[in-house]
Amino acid sequence: MSKIIVLGTGHAMVTECFNSCLLLENNGRYVLVDTSGGNGILGQLKKAGVAVEDIHDVFITHNHFDHMVGLFWIIRTIAYQIPLGNYEGNLNIYITGDNAKLVRDYVLAVYPRMGQLFDSRIFFVDLFHGRELELIDNEFTVMDLKPTMGSHFGFVMDFAGKRLSYTSDVPYHDSLYDLVYGSDWLVHEAFCLESQIDEYKPHEKHHSTVKDACLVATELNAANLILFHTEDDNILQRRALYTAEGLQYFSGNLLVPDDLDVISLC
Ligand SMILES: [Zn+2]
Repeated sequence: MSKIIVLGTGHAMVTECFNSCLLLENNGRYVLVDTSGGNGILGQLKKAGVAVEDIHDVFITHNHFDHMVGLFWIIRTIAYQIPLGNYEGNLNIYITGDNAKLVRDYVLAVYPRMGQLFDSRIFFVDLFHGRELELIDNEFTVMDLKPTMGSHFGFVMDFAGKRLSYTSDVPYHDSLYDLVYGSDWLVHEAFCLESQIDEYKPHEKHHSTVKDACLVATELNAANLILFHTEDDNILQRRALYTAEGLQYFSGNLLVPDDLDVISLC
């Protein structure tokens, strides 16, 4: 049984939903993709019925607060359980070298004893374009998302025999065409509706509208499109509004999940 557990769907400053992050599950094993901006990640995991002690792989796409700060709480929880004998195996964090250094230095400065677990039970695995990883019995290919600023990574994975592409919270870049074209599942950001451009200015924030994301999915011939990393001002109507706009530009299966939705992939 393979599925996506959507832990959060909102952008950095949301208050009506949680920061964008999700779990990929394959037969009770998980990859946590981004960690949110704080210890609310522990609550979302609890609501999803997933114990932190069952997480062994964490993928950090980039170092913005809303994606990376929750990692400290994952590390803290697991580092507390390891000496008690309550955490089997290792924690592998897939993250760029620069960001690994930020995390290491901060943890070592504040909790030196916790830092002793680095490289013995808690490992940092460098991300670079084209790197192949095998996680939860699936092949991952790491993608440099070519952001306009900073560094930002996503991945393509063979998930339950289907190709899933994850382009995090930056617009799809044309250089990724060969990797992403024909994806069965595309997870793409959409900050707001096309009609709300003046209000939210998504392009100035290096984000897309629903229309933009749906045109990308059409160009890439994706079968299923999952939109996330949105504004939250009209959260109760979000799914209806985004679906209505999106289906004008994309004829596949369009999903606008709410926090804690579970999307079955097979
Ligand atoms: Zn973000």
